[in-house]
Amino acid sequence: MEIVPANTQAINKTKERVWKITTAPKIRLFLWRVLSGALAIADCLRNHGLNVNPGCQICGSVNETVSHVLFDCDMAQSVWLITSLPMWPQGSMLSIHEQVDHLLNLMEKQELNRELREAIPWLVWEIWKARNSTLYAAKTNSPHFVVATALEEAKEWLQQHVLVQQDHSHSLQRQGIGERFWTKPATGKLKCNIHSSWLKDSAHIGGAWILRNHLGDVIFHARDAFLPMVNRLAAELHVMFWCLRSLKELQIVSCEVWSDSSAAIDALTRPEDFPKYRSQIIKIQQVIRVMREVSFHLSSPKANSLAKDIACSVTREGRFNSYLARGGPAWLHTRIEDERRGRR
Ligand SMILES: [Zn+2]
Repeated sequence: MEIVPANTQAINKTKERVWKITTAPKIRLFLWRVLSGALAIADCLRNHGLNVNPGCQICGSVNETVSHVLFDCDMAQSVWLITSLPMWPQGSMLSIHEQVDHLLNLMEKQELNRELREAIPWLVWEIWKARNSTLYAAKTNSPHFVVATALEEAKEWLQQHVLVQQDHSHSLQRQGIGERFWTKPATGKLKCNIHSSWLKDSAHIGGAWILRNHLGDVIFHARDAFLPMVNRLAAELHVMFWCLRSLKELQIVSCEVWSDSSAAIDALTRPEDFPKYRSQIIKIQQVIRVMREVSFHLSSPKANSLAKDIACSVTREGRFNSYLARGGPAWLHTRIEDERRGRR
């Protein structure tokens, strides 16, 4: 039996809660990354072995941790103060998952203003965005603006979300939660998980896809290295195009495509909102038109981890030789088997 440390158990519990909150999929994934230490901030990057300055580049605080960025840095503090939400007392040494837990508890507190508590995920998200635009776009908004934006975005999304739920259209799927663990597709269906591994300033992008049937057996998988692209979304769309073209060449006409990039799923379902990526989206649409039935779905990072590991083997381990193979890669055999049997 695997022994899971108590702290990991608590973090996993918070992750489960995050997965169920009513908010935009991109924000749910963001909170997930907050809890997984997977944000591009000094503390996380150092944990991944990168030699970066540990301090906060905005306020000069000694350690840029996730808690610092979302709750203690100047902008974050002002935002939470403006909302008057009951936060933990100053000086309490809460870990990030306890802080997120606290926010999730606030979201359930009926006595608080409803619009405000529903907007909590958007507040965290807007604080993060404000931090990034200060750092990378040299643009600083006022905390009042950040609060107002969060409330507005939340309201708009929640209104639409309710509409989508009411009309039970197929768009429900793309607004939906996605799945926590990999699950087999329905009988007769094929499921393709894809991933692009994009690192800023890297000389290559890694791409991978893995196609499985309703028994969980791998039909094909492929890996390739590509020239660098401007950002992660461009990389994901490029890998998506490569994957679909390969599937078409293999005469697979119907398939569910699962990606863990919410931006890519958004771009494919609402191309009008992504004018910069128009030519990439058109190329993808052209391939889909020839195939019979392709649907796009947002996967949780966990459910997509096999595709991710294959793609990362390109960027991380420098495996640049491309290939397409029947069945799955031998080095992932155990994990493929685990997912096939639903073992977690
Ligand atoms: Zn700071």
